[in-house]
Amino acid sequence: MALRTEYSRVDPKRRANLDYKKRQFANPEFKQQEYAHRLNFYVLPPTAEITLEEFETWAINRLKVLSEIEACSFRNKSPEETAEYMKSIVDKYLPLRSNSSRSQSLQDERKRDHYSHFILRLAFSATEDLRRRYSRLETALFKLRFKDDDLLERRDFVNTLNLEWEEVGADEKREFGAELAAASGMKKGEDQDWFKVDWERVPELVEQRRVLLKRGKAYVPQREQMSLVVAEFTKRLDEALELTARARPRLDEDERLEPILAHLSQSFTAPDAAYSSSDAAIDGLSTPTAASIDTLSKHFPLCMQSLHSNLRANSHLKHFGRLQYTLFLKGIGLSLDECILFWRRSFKLMTDDKFNKEYKYNVRHSYGDVGGDANRRGRGYTPYSCQKLLTEPLPGPGQQHGCPYRTFTQDNLLSLLQKGGINDRDILKSVKEDVQKQRYHVACNRVFEASHKREIKKVKDDGSWSAADLDTIVHPNTYFKRSWLLKHLGEGNVGIANGGEKMEE
Ligand code: SF4
Repeated sequence: MALRTEYSRVDPKRRANLDYKKRQFANPEFKQQEYAHRLNFYVLPPTAEITLEEFETWAINRLKVLSEIEACSFRNKSPEETAEYMKSIVDKYLPLRSNSSRSQSLQDERKRDHYSHFILRLAFSATEDLRRRYSRLETALFKLRFKDDDLLERRDFVNTLNLEWEEVGADEKREFGAELAAASGMKKGEDQDWFKVDWERVPELVEQRRVLLKRGKAYVPQREQMSLVVAEFTKRLDEALELTARARPRLDEDERLEPILAHLSQSFTAPDAAYSSSDAAIDGLSTPTAASIDTLSKHFPLCMQSLHSNLRANSHLKHFGRLQYTLFLKGIGLSLDECILFWRRSFKLMTDDKFNKEYKYNVRHSYGDVGGDANRRGRGYTPYSCQKLLTEPLPGPGQQHGCPYRTFTQDNLLSLLQKGGINDRDILKSVKEDVQKQRYHVACNRVFEASHKREIKKVKDDGSWSAADLDTIVHPNTYFKRSWLLKHLGEGNVGIANGGEKMEE
């Protein structure tokens, strides 16, 4: 892919003297590609020229689509709900029609899809975390499209992939007939074709026990073709992302791209916070003070509990931990003055002078009391959502910020949960599995449900809370609010929909 020269800020002499190893970037053959199919495995990089504006706009539009797919997964939407929700978003930002639509813009749509995929591949190849996330979301997008593709066009597309699946012959079908039928849940007398592949290529099917495993091979029925194609898509994309990561440093001869790529990956690492200021208004809760945080902390999610106990143990927290915790405390309704008092008292080994000089400003800045930009309107920054905490770079040595379900080792996480009273072996086992599958917020919601089991049952039974009131938690402040309300049921005017008197904790 190349950018049109009218936008070039690169010294032409420098371009002419490129290192021979960089020639593949310097002298591509610029030509338009024809897109025969709607679906794309993105094997060939794009080679035609586009403007800098197209480069950025197409990538941002794709990013919007991927972010919404991720948001669906955070809200535990089913595949059907996700497909329904995504329809209008995809139509708006990344439409991709089939040949049968006879649309005039087919080639343009496919070109935008092709280019934007490769631009984001570049932007998100920088770290392992970004690569993994990009691969997961691109796979989800591919799957959505695969499912609603025109059947004949889809078959043509799959035939072009040369997927090297070994067909199971009649002899083998006879030999393993009963086992094949049992593994696939086939009805008696039903006949179908089977493929044989290395089992690592279809982890999803193996995990769900929908295939027969024999001598390292998975026997996959024809009707599971989608899983095979999707697994192949992920495998190829993961390999390509690794290669892109290695080639990325060679991009440095084009100074125009780096800032755009950096901006794109930053937008991806700081998704929208799902925080509403109504989260701060909790019926029945006295306005929090510096002195009440210790008591309230038993309602905090693990991310904030961990920061709180580290602060108490060391009388200190590093910058990002302080920022995360300050915004959370602000989100539960702690005033700026009380928040400063809280930090002043917590840093008890420090002099007033040092605190005022080095720490107080940051607290005021988080509240919008000082500083420009986002702070101009005097509101400061918004408390971080789970999505943000789960996708930011991992904490370095000595840092405690982020989500413990993601950042802690398995042993540390489980012992922290046990210390917090989660001792049920089944729950701990499920949390372990959630974490292994990187479904960190699912693990957190599971722990919430286990530690509020009795109260959740009560509000469900008496109908005082709706299903929406018990929706998946995607924000630490929602965790706190829900926990506090559930643990104070029946006290005075406490209730999810009640206004009412304030009560002392
Ligand atoms: Fe905190 Fe969210 Fe992680 Fe739970 S899932 S510990 S609320 S960041």
